[in-house]
Amino acid sequence: MTVKFYTYILKCSDGRLYTGYTNDLEKRIAKHNTGKGAKFTRGRGPVELMFSEECPSKEQAMTREAEIKKLTRQEKLEIIKGDQKMTGDNKKGILYLCATPIGNLEDITLRALRILKEVSLIAAEDTRHTRKLLSYYDIHTPLTSYHEHNEKGKGQILISELNAGKDVALVSDAGTPGISDPGYELVCLAINEGFTVVPVPGPAALVSAVVSSGLPTDRFVFEGFLPRVKKERNKVLEQMKSEERTLVFYESPRRIIKTLKEIQKLLGDRKVAVARELTKIHEEVVRGLLSDVVRHFEEKSPKGEFVIVLEGIKGDEKNPQVHEASGLSLMVIDLVTRGWDKKEAIKEVARRTGTGRNAVYTAVLEAEGK
Ligand code: SAM
Repeated sequence: MTVKFYTYILKCSDGRLYTGYTNDLEKRIAKHNTGKGAKFTRGRGPVELMFSEECPSKEQAMTREAEIKKLTRQEKLEIIKGDQKMTGDNKKGILYLCATPIGNLEDITLRALRILKEVSLIAAEDTRHTRKLLSYYDIHTPLTSYHEHNEKGKGQILISELNAGKDVALVSDAGTPGISDPGYELVCLAINEGFTVVPVPGPAALVSAVVSSGLPTDRFVFEGFLPRVKKERNKVLEQMKSEERTLVFYESPRRIIKTLKEIQKLLGDRKVAVARELTKIHEEVVRGLLSDVVRHFEEKSPKGEFVIVLEGIKGDEKNPQVHEASGLSLMVIDLVTRGWDKKEAIKEVARRTGTGRNAVYTAVLEAEGK
């Protein structure tokens, strides 16, 4: 394998220019940004790649570096400008955020296919995965990787492609980039640098799950993945206790049962829809109370990808002031008809409304005419 070398010019955060050479641009920029690069760039991060030139050998890269280092700042700026001119008359590249299928390869828009064909470069979370999609549609655009482990360094390289007038499409493995997937950092970088960022809409698992859940779709909150650390997870769930809007979470098959149980423990046995393997052969939406759905997946081991869509707390359950005794007893009856033990139901209604257990118990007795 032949090793490529590059001479490059960086702009430091204080505007000063630094010239160097390397055989791995991505790693080198990351190094400068972690303060472990050249002494000159330490404390001057983040750096921005302004120019790079491929050289056939290390010696040539070193010679070119020495040549550029001798130049004045103005002359270096001319090199940068000249490079941009060569690649498109100072045209600025556009960053497209292309949604791709979440399972079914047919779920991609005509516009996304056209853009993936037309751009100079596709930045993909996993190039092997995206290559399958591209070869299905006979698209041969060059691919490069952009994932959570190279976001920092690679972001700069993608910005330099945009600077060179090239259009770049960002895709993730599935769905919309930036939604529980890499994208946010690059979008911020591109916006800060004045590039146009264009969304190319398409699938996002959360939207398909919400609309098929049977739970209110007028207002919902997307929480993404709950934190893995129990303490942090419980903190997030605690904050959700009085949320009236429908709640949406992403979850893995390994943790789905545990998460559903934890939600039930902290938020009560509410209605839920668990959407599994959307748009794929084994697509299913399991609806019911949390306890029903837990039972379902304890009997049929959970496989695939999951979205949890959870009922929000009802406004009148949240505010004890609006509860008449009859309201409290109706809530208890509602839980009992959903399979709750009466004593547990009274406890739960007391918890949800912030009313004393005795008051709820009295309301039930009154409703029963006792
Ligand atoms: N960017 C994606 C989107 O727009 O939905 C989300 C990527 S995130 C890394 C992956 C998670 O999304 C999965 O763990 C699952 O929770 C959810 N997901 C993705 N595809 C899905 C599908 N076909 N069915 C159900 N959930 C899915």
